[in-house]
Amino acid sequence: GSSTAADRARALTVEAHERFKSVSEGKVADYIPALAATPGALFGVCMIGTSGATFAAGDSDYEFSIQSVSKPFVFALVCQAVGEDEAREKLGVNSTGLPFNSVIAIERTKDGTTNPMVNAGAIAAASLAPGATAEAEWRFLHEGLSRFAGRPLTLNHAVYESEAATNQRNQGAAKLLQGYDRIYFDPIQATDVYTRQCALNVTAKDLAAMAATLANGGVNPLTGERVIDAVHCQHVLAVMVTAGLYEQSGDWLYETGLPGKSGVSGGMVAVAPMKGGLGTFAPLLDDSGNSVKGRLAARFLSERLGLNLFASN
Ligand code: GLN
Repeated sequence: GSSTAADRARALTVEAHERFKSVSEGKVADYIPALAATPGALFGVCMIGTSGATFAAGDSDYEFSIQSVSKPFVFALVCQAVGEDEAREKLGVNSTGLPFNSVIAIERTKDGTTNPMVNAGAIAAASLAPGATAEAEWRFLHEGLSRFAGRPLTLNHAVYESEAATNQRNQGAAKLLQGYDRIYFDPIQATDVYTRQCALNVTAKDLAAMAATLANGGVNPLTGERVIDAVHCQHVLAVMVTAGLYEQSGDWLYETGLPGKSGVSGGMVAVAPMKGGLGTFAPLLDDSGNSVKGRLAARFLSERLGLNLFASN
């Protein structure tokens, strides 16, 4: 039969899964004890176009905690709430060139700003969520992240409790931010809200819908709901480009030419503005905490679909 763009996208999604499913490089994160039990062979790939067309392969309906893939979406919600200028001024938007959990990054800028893609800036971003109480801030973020996904997301209690019992390092970072006046709520409560945000369950398909919403000017292509104003998408994508894969953001950009974001549970998103979003799940991570198979799939799909933002060929 005749081959449409949709047929090709569907076939390439299946091919990306086939090609990389046997890659066994990388390690499951274990510094959050509850993550250590994740089966390393899981692999899901999903692409959602700005039209809502959905293509999926492998374990794309498997639920896992979103972890740092929540960061760009929380930044988006905070930009919407306080405005992009105030968000930039309060959080910073330059890459740190350092691991995601770096405390040195806070010291380096002299004013305590980092960026909202690393833990320090993300905890500060969570602290900017509107609400007089931690519960109200949490409600705002939980509802906003659910709108990005297009369905009510649930909390992974085991992951939340496991991280809450072991996140002294993040609490320390939040206290250091307080010393610089760079956290905008009680630091321990802000860290707790951030820890909950990271423990929300998603699937690769949810991540694709979230990424597609950023590709689509802030309107979720599955629900038709406006989640954020279009103007905020470009700012969120800019920060993802410079810092989405931490100290490996340059390598990622070289490979894909797309804004992306990784998380330690193995989730990853890539955004092709005006075209669509990619969501992947594969828990084996490289040394910087980025999904090995997720990177390979994103690179393959970006090349085959001609998505690289810098291409002129
Ligand atoms: N919740 C995790 C942490 O704060 C998120 C880190 C990540 O996904 N890179 O350590």
